[in-house]
Amino acid sequence: MAVDPHKWLFAPLEAGCALVRNREQLRNAFAYHPPYYHFGTEAINYFDLGPQNSRGFRALKVWLAIQQAGREGYVRMIADNVRLAGHLYERISRFPELEAFTHSLSITTFRFVPGDLDACDKGTDGYLDQLNCELLTRLQNSGEAYLSNAIIHGKFALRACIVNFRTTLADVESLLPLVVRVGKDLDSVLRPAVASLSCKAQE
Ligand SMILES: *Cc1c(COP(=O)(O)O)cnc(C)c1O
Repeated sequence: MAVDPHKWLFAPLEAGCALVRNREQLRNAFAYHPPYYHFGTEAINYFDLGPQNSRGFRALKVWLAIQQAGREGYVRMIADNVRLAGHLYERISRFPELEAFTHSLSITTFRFVPGDLDACDKGTDGYLDQLNCELLTRLQNSGEAYLSNAIIHGKFALRACIVNFRTTLADVESLLPLVVRVGKDLDSVLRPAVASLSCKAQE
């Protein structure tokens, strides 16, 4: 089983684990002893258990965090993240220009849809994909919030994934007005540009 403690165990980048039921299988796969290797057989030599020989002590930060937060700490922090993502999802309905897609665990997806866009227009879906894709880039470059994206039923969606114990309700509440503001600014320049392009294509 592969686990990334730098995801939902909040470890600093990077810390990845492969968990196995039987350690001997790792030894059988990876142990390699040139004649000049004499490290003793009492200690666990981690170079016997994986592809890397000289290595940093990445496990320390994972172990320390588990010592500090404990199981209860992790339960609380992860539950907080899930609650914030749910809160974000519910808030989307308050913004007529935002369309909610999904909420699952700590991930909420949605997109910006300008209020006056004609839903019957053939080009609408393509335009919304382009608009949200460029909106995402603007948002990322703004330094104010960082979202990624998902494709939901073929549509380009903005994807908020909350996996930081420092993310607050205030952060989450400031995100949606920000997306609407950046979306409106962008739409005001992009739509006329796209319309003039498609007119030229028809000519
Ligand atoms: C974390 C993540 C990755 C990258 O994996 P790493 O092990 O951090 O390199 C790729 N895709 C998704 C969906 C992820 O959550």
